[in-house]
Formats: sequence, C-alpha cells, structure tokens
Amino acid sequence: MMKYSLKYSLIFLIVLLAGCNVGKNKNETIPQDETLFPKGDKIANNNFTGTAWVQMMVSNDSTYNTSIGNVTFEPGARTNWHKHPGGQILLVTDGEGYYQEKGKPAQLLRKGDVIKIPPDTEHWHGAAPGKGLTHIAISPNLQKGSVVWLQPVTDEEYSQSTK
Ligand code: MN
Repeated sequence: MMKYSLKYSLIFLIVLLAGCNVGKNKNETIPQDETLFPKGDKIANNNFTGTAWVQMMVSNDSTYNTSIGNVTFEPGARTNWHKHPGGQILLVTDGEGYYQEKGKPAQLLRKGDVIKIPPDTEHWHGAAPGKGLTHIAISPNLQKGSVVWLQPVTDEEYSQSTK
C-alpha cells in the first residue's frame, strides 16, 4: 500500500515539475509587445503631428533608388499631407491606423495590410485615435524625387476621417 502511495506521489511530483518547466519556457519567449524591427529615434521635425519614431532600414543609393524605414506612430500621431514622386508602399506590421488620399474616405489599416500609394498622390498615414501603428515604408524610384511635404492634417480633418 505504501509502495503505491509513494509511486503516485512521485508521478505527481514529476508532473508538477514538468508544469513548472513549461511555465519557465513560456517566460523565456519574446514578449508580445516586442517589435520585429527596431523602433529607432523619435522624429523631431514638423512633418508629423504627435509622436512618431523612425528606424531607417535601407538608405537610398544609385543601385536601388529606394529607401525603407520602419515607422511607429503613437495613438493619434500622423504624417502631414504629402506626396511621393516615385510612389510608396506601406507594409503594416502592428497596431491600427489610417491611410487617406485627398478627397477620398480614409482607409482603416491593420497588421498585415499592404498599401500601394501611386506617384504624386496627396495623402497621409498614421495611427488610430486610441491605438498605435507600426508600418514599414518603402519609397522606390527616388531618382524621380524625394517626398514633398505639405500642410498638417488638422485635428478636425483627423477626427472627421477616423470616426
Ligand atoms: Mn507617404
């Protein structure tokens, strides 16, 4: 009788320890709020409203004529209106935000979305009012010229487009 009791106690102990190990391994995995690419530096110019961060991943050169940056917007943050002579492609990697072309309704952006912005098309992109947004911005054909910055997206325009 004692033998069985000891046997089951040992089994129980082994199961318990295995359970602890599973927990330990879980804690060693990458936290969910960890981003795929670095957040980079806070953007310190007047081309954005609110707080945004950028990490340049590929700098322009004469072989590719393309720059690639990882951009993170805090809730409510957005670019000014602007246009790209060579167009732009956005790959949304996290959060929730909006993309809007002048004169059109804003489009909701979610993780996994791909946005192709035609050349010389006035637009803005940024976070949702209550949620941050991270996207990779690919700017190709830079031999045609770099981004042309325009006026800020006013609070009125932003709240109209994101409600
Ligand atoms: Mn753009």
